Amino acid sequence: ATVTCKLIKNFTSENTIYHNKISIIGTGSVGVACAISILLKGLSDELAFVDVDEGKLEGETVNLQHDSSFMKIPDTISSKDYHVTANSNLVIITAGARPGKGETHLDVVKRNVSIFKLMISNITQYRPQCKMIIVSNPVDILTNVAWKLSVFLQNRVIGSGCNLDTARFCFFIGQRLCIHSESCHGWILGEHGDSNIPVWSGVNIASIPLKDLNSDIGTDKDPEHWGNVYKEVITTGYEMVKMKGYADWAVGLSVADLTESILKNLRRVHPVSMMTKGLCGINEVFLSVPCILGENGIANLIKIQLTPEEEVRLRKSAEELWEIQKEIKL
Ligand code: NAD
Repeated sequence: ATVTCKLIKNFTSENTIYHNKISIIGTGSVGVACAISILLKGLSDELAFVDVDEGKLEGETVNLQHDSSFMKIPDTISSKDYHVTANSNLVIITAGARPGKGETHLDVVKRNVSIFKLMISNITQYRPQCKMIIVSNPVDILTNVAWKLSVFLQNRVIGSGCNLDTARFCFFIGQRLCIHSESCHGWILGEHGDSNIPVWSGVNIASIPLKDLNSDIGTDKDPEHWGNVYKEVITTGYEMVKMKGYADWAVGLSVADLTESILKNLRRVHPVSMMTKGLCGINEVFLSVPCILGENGIANLIKIQLTPEEEVRLRKSAEELWEIQKEIKL
């Protein structure tokens, strides 16, 4: 008899049922950061990884498995084949093409759309009931593409959208005031990109609207130049990629934050990307608005209250996305 047989007596014939299986598609810097952040929060009882780069996939999987003693890592499986994603509660998509030499923004979008065609049909084949969080950029357009290809109900296809931008906004406001970002309440809505909107009309600390203290806050007329805080939100992502070559921990932790709201049915409000057709006269595009996240994904929306200027900016953000999106044929 083997050591195993001598040591262990079988007690049950029942199979393990995973309730919080999470699959991550793409094991690049963002996918791995999402995985570690989710594991540190203890949110998953099985993790599956898929990537086309088999060497990288195996390397990252083995690397994570070896952390098992320190992080109580659950079962971790990986394959190039999507069968490993079967029975996932949540699938997080971080796979994507990097811009090639001389490629336009639209070229990259089109390449990512081709990747999504194969990916989404595989994911839905193995788990038609899952929820999806899309992280790959351009996230608003690809969330729309994923929703159309999956034919899922809208509540189950969520773009990570402005969750990270909003966290950065609160961080930079907090830096100016010497207050922890958690006590700074501000939102970034619209596109996850340069056309998003800082909702200055709602920024408050301990229920005191900063607009009541400085009526020109965030505008060109503002003597204190609070608009620079928002500019930092826009430039910081580019600067980080310039400095270290890629983005990872902040986006990983922000995705784990969304995952926690969904898997624990917390019903917290997050700025995530969803179909905003009809809102403020917007076309059929995905944009970030405040959504209540729970076990079914997007449970409800908060009816946003914007100033006329903010509404104009939201519509402009939607129009810019529409210009790219209308070129995409599925
Ligand atoms: P990366 O290049 O390091 O990783 C991408 C991974 O996707 C690679 O491992 C690659 O092999 C894999 N891949 C490519 N095609 C695939 C396919 N058909 N099937 C499965 N896997 C495939 O990139 P990264 O730095 O990890 O970034 C990933 C994505 O996240 C990018 O689109 C990036 O722009 C985006 N991103 C989003 C946010 C956000 O807040 N939404 C922030 C940062 C980065």
